[in-house]
Amino acid sequence: MCDDIIDCTQAEEELRKALQAAQARIAQYEQAVSMISDIVWSYDVNTKGEHVGSYISPVADRMLGLPVGTIGDNFEKYFSDVHPDDFPAVQETLLEGVRTREKDKTAEYRIRKADGTILWVRSKGLAYYYPDGRVTVHGTTSDITERKRAEEILKAERLKLDIVTQNIGAGLAIISRDYQTVWANNVIKKIFGDVEGKSCHLTYNQRDTVCPDCGVKKVFEHGEKVAVHEQSGKDEHGETIWSEIIATPIRDDKGMIMEALELVVPITVRKRAVDKLQESEARYRRIVETASEGIMILDTQFCFAFVNQKLADMLGYLPVEMLDRPVISIIFEEDLPDHLATMEKRAAGAGGQYERRLRRKDGSSCWTIVSATVLRDEAGQFTGSFAMLTDITERKKADEALKESELRFRTMVEMAPDAIFIVNQTGAFIEVNAVACKQIGYTREQLLSRHVSDILPVSLVAKASWRLKTLENADSSYESIHVRSDGTQVPVELNIRKIMLNGNLAMLGIARDITERKQVETVLREAKEAAEAATKVKSEFLAKMSHEIRTPLNGIIGMIGLLLDMDLNAEQYEYAQIASFSGEILLSLINDILDFSKIEARKLELETLDFDLRSTLKDTEDLLAIGAHEKGLELVCLVEPTVPLLLRGDPGRLRQILINLGGNAVKFTDKGKIVIRVSMEGEDEQNITIRFAVIDTGIGIPANRMDSLFSPFIQVDSSKTRKYGGTGLGLAISKQMAELMGGKIGLESKEGKGSTFWFTAVFEKQPAGSGSAQETFAKIEGEVAMEHSTGEPAISGNGNCKMRILVAEDNPVNQKVAQAMLKKMGLRTDVVANGQEAINALQMIPYDLVLMDCQMPEMDGFEATRVIRHEGSKALNRSIPIIATTAATMQGDREKCIQAGMNDFIAKPVQKRELSEMLTRWLAIATNDNMKSE
Ligand code: ADP
Repeated sequence: MCDDIIDCTQAEEELRKALQAAQARIAQYEQAVSMISDIVWSYDVNTKGEHVGSYISPVADRMLGLPVGTIGDNFEKYFSDVHPDDFPAVQETLLEGVRTREKDKTAEYRIRKADGTILWVRSKGLAYYYPDGRVTVHGTTSDITERKRAEEILKAERLKLDIVTQNIGAGLAIISRDYQTVWANNVIKKIFGDVEGKSCHLTYNQRDTVCPDCGVKKVFEHGEKVAVHEQSGKDEHGETIWSEIIATPIRDDKGMIMEALELVVPITVRKRAVDKLQESEARYRRIVETASEGIMILDTQFCFAFVNQKLADMLGYLPVEMLDRPVISIIFEEDLPDHLATMEKRAAGAGGQYERRLRRKDGSSCWTIVSATVLRDEAGQFTGSFAMLTDITERKKADEALKESELRFRTMVEMAPDAIFIVNQTGAFIEVNAVACKQIGYTREQLLSRHVSDILPVSLVAKASWRLKTLENADSSYESIHVRSDGTQVPVELNIRKIMLNGNLAMLGIARDITERKQVETVLREAKEAAEAATKVKSEFLAKMSHEIRTPLNGIIGMIGLLLDMDLNAEQYEYAQIASFSGEILLSLINDILDFSKIEARKLELETLDFDLRSTLKDTEDLLAIGAHEKGLELVCLVEPTVPLLLRGDPGRLRQILINLGGNAVKFTDKGKIVIRVSMEGEDEQNITIRFAVIDTGIGIPANRMDSLFSPFIQVDSSKTRKYGGTGLGLAISKQMAELMGGKIGLESKEGKGSTFWFTAVFEKQPAGSGSAQETFAKIEGEVAMEHSTGEPAISGNGNCKMRILVAEDNPVNQKVAQAMLKKMGLRTDVVANGQEAINALQMIPYDLVLMDCQMPEMDGFEATRVIRHEGSKALNRSIPIIATTAATMQGDREKCIQAGMNDFIAKPVQKRELSEMLTRWLAIATNDNMKSE
């Protein structure tokens, strides 16, 4: 027990000591707590959630300016001074917070001090939860009034800053060192969208990496403020925008660059405006510099303030040379008064357009058109003038030249011997010269108020108006008649041309008075008509006469022929032969005259036959050979190998010329040779021109007689003519015929040496298979000679009685050729020139056969045959064989021949072999018939 008591006493002692120690510690704590400037408080909550004990340190009274002990541990008392606006939050946080079992609770709120001022306090509580459900909450409440005030000030400052940054009108952004936009103001956001927290190159430039010229980058790299005057970027929508940027480093207190502040001034609008302005300025500059006009600006003193290159070029200066010079330095002295007057007006405010001659640097003139305007300042004061100058020097020169040429032209027009006038399309005269006035008898004024219809006979008015209106045959010349003012008429030759006059079509006319010419023409025409009539009469007379002469002559020749066949003694035979020879000459003369008169009367027409030149030449040669051989002359015919032989033309007339020339050659040559040379003269697609030359070694022709020989009836020496015979018609006929054949004729000769007569003629080519001479200069003479040697089998009737052939053919050469061919065949031949003569001859002489040309004048072969065959015919032998000679191509003619009663036909030109065969056949038939009939 004692122990217990001891124990108890000890325990009490220990407890008392512990209590004392605890109290001492509490006092220390209280002391410590009272030293704390914050209110320390606590409260307990029992298991039922009721506040069961509380402690509030006395600092509370001090803090609230209350007498010590006012609050004590009374929370309600404390909370009664809490600002009513803040109380709910305080209650929620500190008192009710227990329920939420959150350990830390903080509340900031206002509390009213005893003197009525407000304190800002911050209470912080920490709850401790006992396992049995009780809770003890400890906390402190500190005076944060000063901090709050500082915060308020800061907030206000922030607000101001915010207002400034948001309304600054420029973009502001803070960029971190990794190029993130930390913050951006509205301006930035408006342009670039929500950029905060995003990388700046992506948002401002839509680039993946930092721009090389990025201002912020430079700031980070160099640590200095950077200004970028023009930075392009992309706005939210991808549109290019322009900004001016100032980037400034933001440093921490150690001076390290943390971030960069970017001031972005949008200059897109301004830049566009500036660009536009620059563009338009450049455009104007270009216009001014490249203008084809000279441009100048003069200052108030009329000195050059600006000149463009063109003006300088126009005047031969460099632009700089002209600047500041007075404008009168380019004005000619004589133009000065006018210039000064203009400048005065200019200073008074008058612009205008005028022509001005300017002096070039080299002293020459430059004509310009000046368009000037006055320049004024805003107050309306004269500040100079602006002028554009067009160089019209060339135009001036052209004007002068035009004036000069117009004057020249006008003089020429006035001096012209013909009437010259211009009429418009309605026919009104718009220009006339003096001759026109005189020719038509009006004054210039009168004529200019008149119309072409006033100077034309009524019958020509409609045609003239039509011509003017349609400009049909606008460029032509024709004869017309003009009516003078007094009503008389003047014949004119009118030359009209369509011209353009001031942009309108008009007609220029030149009228030549042809009164005299008309008179001469009338006289000439009458004379010509009279001459033609006379020629016609002469030709007709000749034709008639020769016909009249020839008929009895044919009788004479025919009869002498019969006589010669009879038994005559030598003397009788000689007389009859002379008579026959004379008759032949007379007949050939008459034929020539007839031929010539026919050509003169233009009645001779050429035939168009396909023929072989070789056989034509051979016929010719055959004929000429007779005379040549008689005289012992050599006769050669040379054809150049290039000459085509198959031709189309008139072989009869060709032969006629050749025989005329060849006959003369034989006639006028006593020894030596005669050469016929045929060569090519020219050729085109359809035609060939061939040259024929007949060369002899005869008497030749004196030079002074050569020219006249181709005229009719001209002979070199008429005394010799008697020796040689002839009429002087052969060459005249040959000339006419050569010309008819599209050729020419000429001669070269040397007296005593010989002559060359040549002519050319145009022939058509035969379409196909035409050949040329096979051998060079084929000697046709050889063939002739051969034929002579072998001899032609004579076609003869029985015994001595030779067959007698009548040839009806109008062409004398054809006659001669036929005669020669038939003679060679041993046949007697008489020729007549037309159908009527043939009928007459057949009535007198018992011919055995007739060779009848179809085409003959007076009466053709068809008609003659019909008459011969007619029942009442007086022909000695009505059924005599009649062989027609006709153009091979005339198919219709052949049928006509048979119908007319002819027995057969032979194609012209007649070929000897063919003729021989034909005659052999028909003479045999005729002989048989005769024998039968006998
Ligand atoms: P014709 O011979 O009938 O007299 P032409 O007209 O044929 O008529 O010839 C006229 C004249 O030209 C001839 O009379 C002759 O004086 C001269 N003549 C023509 N050809 C020759 C010639 N080859 N040689 C010399 N004189 C010629």
